[in-house]
Amino acid sequence: MENLFKDFGENVFSEKEMQSRLPRPVYQSWKKTVANEEVLDRPTADAIAHAMKLWALEHGATHFTHWFQPMTGGTAEKHDSFLEPDINGEPFARFSGKMLIKGEPDASSFPNGGLRTTFEARGYTYWDVKSPVFIRDRVLCIPTVFVSYSGEALDKKDPLLKSLTALSKAATRVVNILGDKDVKSCDISVGLEQEYFLIDQKYFEKRLDLRFTGRTLFGIPSPKTQELDDHYFGAIPSRVSAFMDEVNHELWKLGVYAKTEHNEVAPGQFELAPIFTNGNVAVDQNHLIMDILRQTAKKHHLACLLHEKPFAGINGSGKHDNYSIITDDGQNLFSPGEKPAENIRFLLFVCAFIKAVDTYPVLLRLSASSTGNDHRHGANEAPPAIISIFLGSYIESILYNLYRDDKKESTQQIEKNTFNPVNGLAYIPHDNTDRNRTSPVAFTGNKFEFRMLGSSMSASFANTVLNAIMAEALNEIADQLDGIKYIQDIREKALAICRELIDKHKRILFSGDGYSDEWKKEAKRRGLPNVKSFIEATNILNDPTVIQLFTSLDIYSKKELAANRIILQEQYVKMMGIEVRMMLEMVRKDILPSQVAELDFYNQACLHANKNTPSFITERVKLISGYIDDTYQALHALQDAWQQANKQETPYEVGKAIYDSINPLMDDLRQCVDAYEAIASRDFYQLPSYEDILFNI
Ligand code: ADP
Ligand code: MG
Repeated sequence: MENLFKDFGENVFSEKEMQSRLPRPVYQSWKKTVANEEVLDRPTADAIAHAMKLWALEHGATHFTHWFQPMTGGTAEKHDSFLEPDINGEPFARFSGKMLIKGEPDASSFPNGGLRTTFEARGYTYWDVKSPVFIRDRVLCIPTVFVSYSGEALDKKDPLLKSLTALSKAATRVVNILGDKDVKSCDISVGLEQEYFLIDQKYFEKRLDLRFTGRTLFGIPSPKTQELDDHYFGAIPSRVSAFMDEVNHELWKLGVYAKTEHNEVAPGQFELAPIFTNGNVAVDQNHLIMDILRQTAKKHHLACLLHEKPFAGINGSGKHDNYSIITDDGQNLFSPGEKPAENIRFLLFVCAFIKAVDTYPVLLRLSASSTGNDHRHGANEAPPAIISIFLGSYIESILYNLYRDDKKESTQQIEKNTFNPVNGLAYIPHDNTDRNRTSPVAFTGNKFEFRMLGSSMSASFANTVLNAIMAEALNEIADQLDGIKYIQDIREKALAICRELIDKHKRILFSGDGYSDEWKKEAKRRGLPNVKSFIEATNILNDPTVIQLFTSLDIYSKKELAANRIILQEQYVKMMGIEVRMMLEMVRKDILPSQVAELDFYNQACLHANKNTPSFITERVKLISGYIDDTYQALHALQDAWQQANKQETPYEVGKAIYDSINPLMDDLRQCVDAYEAIASRDFYQLPSYEDILFNI
């Protein structure tokens, strides 16, 4: 066993490594920087850079890079080698504190939503001291934030770090008021479960749609899909298991505790879950995980698909974000403890969460939205776009009792049916960690599981939002508790706050089947928003309450929010543009020609067929020529509508026009092609089918 893990963390410049390599005062100074108590000074940075360089060279690195997360949702890096000539012209490896702390990548090609004009196209990267430096492919990677010349965030990490500061302050305030004065800061723990598909690379290469859009734009379900559920938790195929071994090993070397791996529901679908760690690092590590999955797949002649919906008709992929808040001395604030009903701190944090989610459902919905995720989230697949929280019967009944007891005392009259969240539509709960897989946000024992994220998305913004809304709710609670002198009075008041929060926000609690139509009706009755699409959700960044939330907590400026909104809208338009162009190209270059060739084949055959009786051959001629006409018409309809949609003024209007008018036309075109695929001869229809793709690894 030991041997297997002997190189765990080998490629990370870990805290342990720093401690052993740095002079003590330098190490202490770095620790203080991480704890936000000090700003890193130049001599300290130089000393760290020097030790880091020696470590990197020992580990075979030749280059370094400032690794950052532009608003594209991916990661970016520019490599520089350590190599420089010394004064005698001899080669020499140089890496200074300045090079460690600050970089200046050419920022002009990253989305900025109008934050940068060309004359100030510069952007800077700054070392994020809280996320460990690592080596990949001989490159020393330094996690950084990316900001514009005038200091606006151009990335997803800077706001996340700011949200962590805001949350830490707010949570610490509440914990301190409740009597635990030793707690100095709080952080979040995040565990991100990653779903993905694996397919054989040779099929991937043959499908332009998969290669350029990440999903199949055409294709009919194979005769067998997931109906037997035989793939889920089934034996992992040996080829995949070799792939997983290598993925795990790579991740372990990078200090990622890759833990769980199993088949998912759909054929060819799998999941990888690492053990949770602090939110900042968890988000960085998830980027690494996605990257390593893709790279390793290639080595095994596989393609790893991270798209949310690569195949129609079978489950798509998500990313579950398991979220909890912990104190600097390791207490999980969502842990119910032995007696949750008497655990005021737990109740208060759960109620704060309920309030936070109920106050900002659309913002949360947006944080999990992307072009790809539109095919699951809010479409016919889980999870629903209506945000609700599943608490489990045990916790829910505790809150219910709290609320009801109060009513008993004050009014002597319990209206039995006004609040009975346990009584969801048709759900029978089991224990306090019971699962409701249809819920977008679920309490699972000592954490909340946020299930809406798309598999290809960065988890950064979702955690930024969770932190921000929790910080606001906790600050409001702290404001109400501030100045109360005796602990008994504080507890009384805290309970009163809980009751009030439950009363006000209970509509967000739901234990029933989130996919059912009854829930849609019920949610509407409760006044819960049901925003159908990503593009519509983007407007929430323009909402005064959302602007107030982020600006008051110093997470985003108004200008940054506007830029983010535009970037998201432009992203949608661009992605859809690629899909539409790819569809048109495939129809023109692959599908219509194969239809015509097959038609010709049957026409030739007709010459020899019995002309007087209807036959397979004459029927095919009729069918295929019908499909050709339908396909051609649908192609033109899509092409024309695309031009129309792009005449709109703003990115939002273009995006909305695409959502409303282009999506149905893409469906139409797909239907024509899929109808043909259903009867096409393999000799003519050459695109690998779902059957080929999904059942061949
Ligand atoms: P499931 O598939 O049932 O949701 P998994 O075991 O696959 O569960 O994943 C659970 C994830 O939650 C793991 O990444 C795990 O490390 C993480 N997790 C466990 N406890 C916590 C916690 N207190 N805070 C945050 N994440 C946690
Ligand atoms: Mg899960």
